[in-house]
Amino acid sequence: MNEQPNTFDPAPLAGDYLGEAATLLAHDDPFPGGAVVPPIYQTSLFTFANYADMADTFAGRRKQPIYSRGDNPTVMEFEARVAALEGAEAARGFSSGMAAISATVLAFVGAGERMVAVRNCYGDAYRLFERLFPRLHIKVDYVDGSDPDAVAAALPGAKLLYLESPTSMMFELQDLEHLTRLAKEQGIVTTIDNSWATPVFQKPISHGVDLVLHSASKYLGGHSDTVAGVVAGSAAHIKHINEQTYSQLGGKLSPFEGWLLLRGLRTLPLRLPHHMKSGLIIAERLKAHGKVERVNHPAYSNHPGKKTLAGYAGLFSFEVTEDVDIPAFVDALKFFRIGVSWGGHESLVVPAKASLEQTPGINSMARFGVSPRTIRFNVGLENVEDLWADIAQAFDKSRAFDKSKK
Ligand SMILES: *Cc1c(COP(=O)(O)O)cnc(C)c1O
Repeated sequence: MNEQPNTFDPAPLAGDYLGEAATLLAHDDPFPGGAVVPPIYQTSLFTFANYADMADTFAGRRKQPIYSRGDNPTVMEFEARVAALEGAEAARGFSSGMAAISATVLAFVGAGERMVAVRNCYGDAYRLFERLFPRLHIKVDYVDGSDPDAVAAALPGAKLLYLESPTSMMFELQDLEHLTRLAKEQGIVTTIDNSWATPVFQKPISHGVDLVLHSASKYLGGHSDTVAGVVAGSAAHIKHINEQTYSQLGGKLSPFEGWLLLRGLRTLPLRLPHHMKSGLIIAERLKAHGKVERVNHPAYSNHPGKKTLAGYAGLFSFEVTEDVDIPAFVDALKFFRIGVSWGGHESLVVPAKASLEQTPGINSMARFGVSPRTIRFNVGLENVEDLWADIAQAFDKSRAFDKSKK
């Protein structure tokens, strides 16, 4: 059995997550006609009343949306909400989390330059860095982000530090204040993928991070009906992204999806504490289960990166003992459906064993040694006792198949 500190702290369960975030989301100015929900501006372009308005808008003397690949009022409403929640000056919506990640990183790193990324960052971010970036002559060095000395050693000469705390599949934490201080000393831009914690549980900008990225497809949307992304930061940084990549790469957010995200955001501060509570109940029971060797959940970490987390999301992983037939266990689950993505209402399971066979040669989980006995759960909003009963019966079934299916 692996050594694992048991520092489970129930305090976050008592936190008030409904205060600030809920207020930010509730304070709608009335929209046209007194509507409490903004209209979907389903239009590609916006016309001008006269020549002077067009000329003044083009010259930047006047503000008005011009074309929906740039600005769209429904999308701008979403961007303003995310900026407010993250404590940022500005935000920019994108057609996916990967559009936000690629446009942001490419705005700050160019040919012949180098960046530093945490190991076990999101799989497609890793594939972007490994597939496209060598062709652009951009070098990416990976570090154990939980080790500030390793990050310090890798930083000199880099243009960007790419964080994700906690990381995908392994849920390793990074000390945001320490690492951003190291980067700032050398003028290096810092980004973080904050999809897991959301601004309800972690506000990276207040801890020194420059740019906060989200796959809005996950908790921000929260209903598994949208693929979208967003980046939030200072007005100057967002302006730089707008000028360098956003308009030209063209990965804009659609008005309808912006509208769905606004709807999802209204319940974010209600959903997150529920995911946390159910996730912790299941994590605690898994930890006590004889077929589980370790649980990769930030609640069990002693790392200083924990101090910027006000609570825990419902996504984590665990490693099962050798005698568990993983395909049988996964197939026996009924509430946990087999599928990628996470952050929606529904519980999901991803076995690392299957993910390790994805894109051979460009697989971050294989490269950084994620055990094939790792299983990731997205704990949804269902009744937690139903979820646990499902897990318990699946373990019983996987035991019945012991070794017979290997
Ligand atoms: C899903 C995901 C992304 C990518 O977002 P898309 O909206 O699918 O493009 C980025 N980071 C993390 C941590 C994710 O889970």
